[in-house]
This record gives sequence, structure tokens and C-alpha cells, in this order.
Amino acid sequence: MWDTKADVLVVGAGAAGCIAAGVAAADPALEVVVLEKDTGQPCNSTIASAFIPGAGSRFQRAKGIADDPAILAEDIWRKSKGRADKARALTLARRSADAVHWLADVPGIPIEHAPEIEWFGHTRPRMHSHPIRSGIPIIATLRAYLAAQPNVTFLDKVPAIDLLADGGIPIGVVARGERERRIAARRIVLACGGFGGNPEMVARYIPEMATAWHIGGTTNTGEGIRWGLALGAAVEHMGAYQGRDTIREDGTRVTPGVVTGGGIAIDVGGQRFVREDRDYSELAAVYRQQPGGFVVLIWDAGIQHSVDALHVMQEAKRNGGIDRFESLRALAHHHGLSENVLGATLDDYNRGVLARKDGLGRTELTRPLAPPYFTARVTGAIAHTQGGLKVDDRQRVLRQDGRAIEPLYAVGNTAVGVSGSDAGGYMSGNGLMVAFSSGLIAGEDASATLAPA
Ligand SMILES: Cc1cc2nc3c(=O)[nH]c(=O)nc-3n(C[C@H](O)[C@H](O)[C@H](O)COP(=O)(O)OP(=O)(O)OC[C@H]3O[C@@H](n4cnc5c(N)ncnc54)[C@H](O)[C@@H]3O)c2cc1C
Repeated sequence: MWDTKADVLVVGAGAAGCIAAGVAAADPALEVVVLEKDTGQPCNSTIASAFIPGAGSRFQRAKGIADDPAILAEDIWRKSKGRADKARALTLARRSADAVHWLADVPGIPIEHAPEIEWFGHTRPRMHSHPIRSGIPIIATLRAYLAAQPNVTFLDKVPAIDLLADGGIPIGVVARGERERRIAARRIVLACGGFGGNPEMVARYIPEMATAWHIGGTTNTGEGIRWGLALGAAVEHMGAYQGRDTIREDGTRVTPGVVTGGGIAIDVGGQRFVREDRDYSELAAVYRQQPGGFVVLIWDAGIQHSVDALHVMQEAKRNGGIDRFESLRALAHHHGLSENVLGATLDDYNRGVLARKDGLGRTELTRPLAPPYFTARVTGAIAHTQGGLKVDDRQRVLRQDGRAIEPLYAVGNTAVGVSGSDAGGYMSGNGLMVAFSSGLIAGEDASATLAPA
């Protein structure tokens, strides 16, 4: 009844699935099959700016940065307002540096420490990334690495369409490419992302973003979570998500660094309306609620210089999404704003910066803004979902009563994250840290618990 048999079957080839498959395949006795819905569609890990936390990495040590997993777990927990599972955050944080090292050492990705932006909630500079700060080369390298392994079968444009179980025990999947095939597996890793690309699930679990744009991978349609639910698995924090507040009309984005670095957001009347140093994930819903759903971000040349090399900024510039103005008058004219009102807004903000006392309560105050100015018109969107299947510290999917559904793992955004229950609980890096650490753990566990058949 089976077309293929795998020792380890991984559903989804994003960050979590690729590392899980790569780690399991390190044992040459294991046959690993990876199913990917469509590499022609960017997954979340490809779309990501690819800032990856790695607490205590050798890259940090080389720069004399003192950090460790317990500090990262504490930061995560604090950012989630105490709602994240602290023990799970620590389990994942403990593998964060290992995952960063694996990316550098095994597939040979040129990973480096990435200190250019101070990310909200992190008490240490612990981000790592590819030199171009994009997930594109990272995922391309990972997929090419897997495809080159003699014991890995990488099937592209072959989505899993059903999880098969016998007496409540998962035994394989049905996959559909050019033909339908049934694949038996001794270990199954659900790495098929979250549900941001499924409007019905978003409306049900995250009603505040039901009508918002989704800028994440369209192939994240939630089937991994639904298959788990059908088997009696528990889900957690389904309302948690990463919002993005800096999304342009054409779907490209500017970095939140233009605001955290000292820029401001103004409404259609030319006035500030919010503390811009609130977290970008939380600000997404706030921006959407402004008249017209869009706001204008204003920053200056010093800030632009510090973020100019980022992949997203280059892309936004190429698409004509970042404007530069030598004068306030030109800026006001371009955006249809009153020069007087805008001038008063900027004067007021700059006075507050110098006095270290902002009228809206902003505490991150760098330097007064000065011409030339840069602007982008942006809205808030949902980037990816953070709620998912409940798992144990080996990434095994758990039933409502706490027992594991062997031999089923959930990793990355198919599993619950560590961001509490809303948008504000998300700390930058929670996406990829969880994806890489959970994939590493599941890959190791699947391999360690399998005796060669
Ligand atoms: C704009 C944006 C910026 C971000 N920036 C960052 C950042 O800088 N740092 C950070 O930590 N996080 C960031 N994130 C979040 C991060 O990208 C995700 O949390 C992470 O990529 C999740 O990895 P994953 O492997 O679970 O999912 P994905 O990378 O989405 O991979 C899931 C894969 O499963 C496949 N799939 C789905 N269903 C099936 C099926 N039925 N059969 C076969 N395959 C299937 C999909 O096609 C996809 O390839 C960002 C997200 C977005 C959208």
C-alpha cells in the first residue's frame, strides 16, 4: 500500500524543516524524505530579514559579548509579559548558538554577527545573519545542501495533503505531485509553517488582523496544525502573531530600524499619534487603525546611512518606496500635508529629544531630525503566526492530556512559539530562533531514537 518508505519524513522545507532534515541525515543509515509544497513560492524563512538570535555563540565571543541562553530566555519571557512558557524558551535558547554554528559549519552559510540594529526586548547584541541580511541565500543554500545528500530525497512541488494514522498513531502521509503517492514514515516532522496564508484560520484565531494584509509565505495554510488537531493534539496561544508596521503599498517593506533609530510616524493630518518606540509587532494593528490605514514614516540621513545596506532597504529603494527631500516644504507637498502642521510636529519632537522628554512618552530618543529627510508610506500587516501545536522539550506533539503523539514532531511555526498570546509578546528573532532550534532538536531526536531498520 506504500509507494515509498522513509525513516524520517519532513513536511516543509523552510528553516525548521531544512535543519531537521539536515541533522537527521547526518546518520547515513537513515533515509530522509523532504516534501515541499512549492519552492517557487517564498516561505517565511525566505521572506525573513533573517536576524537569528544565537545566545553565547562563538561569533559573539569573538567580539567579547557576554551572553547565555538563560539571559535570552529571560528576555523572551519578559517580552511576552510573562505568558510564554519559560522552560520551553530556555530549552530552545540553549540550542540557539548550536543552530547558528550548524548553519555556518555544515551547509557552509557565511553567517556573521549582525549588531547594526538594537532590537526591542533584547538585552544583548545577539542577532546573526547572512551578510546581505536576507533569508533568500540561507534557504537556497539549505535546500541545495539537502538535495545533494545521498540519503535525502527532496521532493519539490509535492505537498503532503493528508496525514495517515492507524489507531491514532501517525504512520505516513499522502502526497500529491504529478501523481498521488503514499509515503510511510517511522518519524514524521511537521515543518509546514503556520496559518498566516489561511484567511479563515486568521479570522477565527486572530480577529484583529482578519482584514489585514498577510506579507508572509502564502503556502503557510495551517494544515500541519489542523492534522494535529484531528489527532487530538493540543494547541496553544493561537492568537499570537508577528505584526509588521513598516509595509509599503506594493508589499515590500522598510526596516523597523528607521523608527527605532530615531524616526517618527505621522498620520494623514501631519501629526504624531503614538510612541514610535513601542514594538513594531504591536504597532502593526495601531497603524492599520489610523484613518486610511496608512501612516508616513520620517527619518533623516544619519538613520538612512545606518540601515542603507539592508536587503529590504535596497529593495524598497529599487521599487521607488523611499523618498528623499531636501526640505520640509518638499516633504509636506509630496505627501499632501500642511507645511505648518508638519513643521510644528517636527519642532515639537526635536525639542523633546533635546530635553529628553517626549510628549507621547517615547523614551528611545536619539538625535533631533534634520534635513535631508527620508519618508515611506506604510501600513501594518500580519507577518507570521506564532500559535500552534503544543510540544514537549523533544518537539513531540502533545495530546490534550499531555501524552506525546509518537512518532510525530512539530517544529517552527507549526508548533507553538514563545511569544505569549498576542502581537506585543513577539520579540524579534523568536521566529527563526524557534524554527532553527526546534528543527535541530527534532532532527536529533528522530535520529537518536531510530535504530537502523
Ligand atoms: C516579513 C517577515 C520578516 C521576518 N523576519 C524575521 C527575522 O528577521 N528574524 C526572525 O527570527 N524571524 C523573522 N520572521 C519570522 C520567520 O520568518 C518565521 O518564524 C520562520 O521562517 C518560520 O520557519 P518555518 O520553517 O516554520 O516556516 P516556513 O519558512 O514558512 O516554511 C514552511 C514550509 O512548509 C511548506 N509547506 C506548507 N504546507 C506544506 C505541505 N502541506 N506539504 C509540504 N510543504 C508544505 C511551505 O511551502 C514552506 O516552504 C519574519 C517573517 C516575515 C514574514
